[in-house]
Amino acid sequence: MKHYLNYVDGQWRDSPRQLVIMNPGTAEPYATIAQATTDDADLAMAAARRCVESGALTDVRPAQRTMWMLKAAEAIREITDEAAMVLCLENGKNFETAREEFVEAARYFEYYAGIADKIEGISVPLGKDYVDFTQYVPMGISVQIVPWNFPVSICARSLAPALAAGNAVVIKSPEISPLAMTLLIAAIEKAGFPQGAVNLLCGKGSEVGNHLVEHNDTNQIVFTGSVPTGQRILKAASQRATPSVMELGGKSAAIALADVDLENLIRSVKVGIFYNAGQVCSAMSRLLVHRSRFEEVKQAVVTMAQSLNIGSGETHAELTPVVSLDQQQRILAMVEQARQEGATVLTGGKAPELAGYFVEPTIIEATPSMSIAQEEVFGPVLVIMPFDDEDQAIDIANGTDFGLVAGVFGAGINQTLRIANRLRAGQVFINEWFAGGIETPFGGVGLSGFGREKGQEAIYSYVQTRNIAIRLSHHA
Ligand code: NAD
Repeated sequence: MKHYLNYVDGQWRDSPRQLVIMNPGTAEPYATIAQATTDDADLAMAAARRCVESGALTDVRPAQRTMWMLKAAEAIREITDEAAMVLCLENGKNFETAREEFVEAARYFEYYAGIADKIEGISVPLGKDYVDFTQYVPMGISVQIVPWNFPVSICARSLAPALAAGNAVVIKSPEISPLAMTLLIAAIEKAGFPQGAVNLLCGKGSEVGNHLVEHNDTNQIVFTGSVPTGQRILKAASQRATPSVMELGGKSAAIALADVDLENLIRSVKVGIFYNAGQVCSAMSRLLVHRSRFEEVKQAVVTMAQSLNIGSGETHAELTPVVSLDQQQRILAMVEQARQEGATVLTGGKAPELAGYFVEPTIIEATPSMSIAQEEVFGPVLVIMPFDDEDQAIDIANGTDFGLVAGVFGAGINQTLRIANRLRAGQVFINEWFAGGIETPFGGVGLSGFGREKGQEAIYSYVQTRNIAIRLSHHA
C-alpha cells in the first residue's frame, strides 16, 4: 500500500504512527498516512511563526503573492487527473466530482491571486490637522481544520485567501480522506512560497486538531465541519479570544411553488441531494411542495431516485458510497428513527447488497418537527413535505436551528424573490440548486456558523483592520 506523509516546514515528514485509509467503494484498505503528533503540530506552528516573523510573505510587493498563487494554480491543474483518482478511491466519490474538486482548487488560487494585490484600505477625512488611513493586515498564523466531504476544494477555499492576504497556514486534514490533500499541497509547494508558509498535518481531531486550536501561537481558526466540533472549538477559542470562521452543517430546504417547472425542479433535486451521496453541507435535504403539486412531485422524485445507478466512484455511478461504515450506520439509524416517529419511507432506506458503504437513494415523507426533518443526515436522504401557503412554507424552511442555504422554485420573479428575502440562510438559490460558485460569498447563520468564505468578501475573513492616524504639525 502506498504511504503518504505530512508536510512541515518545507519537508515531507513521516511519523512512527500511521492511519489506514479505507476505500469506501470496496470496504478494503487503500493506503496509509503518517499520523501527526502534537510534536509535529508544534514544529509546524514554529515554522509558520518563523515565516510570519521573517516578513517573507508580507514584506514583498503583493504582486509577488499573486505570482506564487498563479503558479500554484497551474501546478494544481497539471495533477488534476492523477490526483482525482486518489481522491475518488480514498473518499468514494465519483471521479468527475473528484476532478471538479481539483479544478475548483485551481480556480480558488487564480481568483484570490487576482485579489492579493488589491487589498486596499481607505483614507478617512479628519480635517486639516490629521491624515488617517486604514490597512488590512494579515492575522499571522491561520489554523485551518478541514472535513472529509470535499477535502481538496475546501482546503483550497480557505488556504488561497489566507495566503493572498499574507498569512502563514497550518492545515489539519481529516483523518478520513486526507491523501489527495497531500497531492494538492505537493503541487502548491512547486509554486515557491516561502518556507513555513504552508504546513499540512493529518492527525486525530481530538489530539492534533485540539492542540492547534488551543495553541498559544494560533492567530485565527478556520473550521469547516460539524456543529458539535465547531462548538468545542469555539470554547477553546474563547480562552484567547482567537478570531474564528465557522462553516458548520445545514438542513437546507427547497420550496417548490404551485407554478413550479417539474422537470427543472427534479434536475435540481437530483444534484441537490444525491451529488456526493448527499454528503454536502449545503445539500437540499428538505423539499417543501405546494399541496396542489405534492402528489405529482412526490411521484417524480421517487421515480428519479429509483432510476439512479449505484456504484463506486471510479465507475462514474450517479450514486456513490458514503465515506465510512460509521457514516453508513449513522444514516441508516436516522432512517429507522424516522420510521419509529411515524415518517413514511417512500423509497430506499436500506443498504444495497454491495461490498462498499452504500445507502440507497432515500425519500421520506415526514412532518416538520420530526427529527429526520430537523437534524442533518449528511447522506442521500431527502425529506419531502407539503405546505399550503407562502407563510407556512417560510415558517417550515426557517424552522430549524440551521441556516446555510435555501432555495425557491417557481415561475414568477416577484413571488420567488419575495420568499427569498424572507429565508434565513447565507445563500438562497432561485430555480437552480447550487447556483453560484467560488465567486459568491458562502456561509451560514444560526448553527450553520458565521464568517464568509468564497467571493471577494472572504478576503476580509483573513485580515484585520489597522487604523493609522497622523497628527500634522503646521509649524514651518
Ligand atoms: P467533524 O466535525 O467530525 O470533523 C471536521 C474536522 O474537525 C476534522 O478534520 C476533524 O479531525 C476535526 N476535529 C474533530 N474534533 C476536533 C477537535 N476537538 N478540535 C479540533 N479539530 C477537531 O466533521 P466531518 O464529519 O469531517 O464533516 C462533516 C460535517 O462538516 C457536516 O456537519 C457538514 O455539514 C460540515 N461541513 C460544512 C461545510 C460548510 O462549508 N459549511 C462544508 C463541508 C462540511
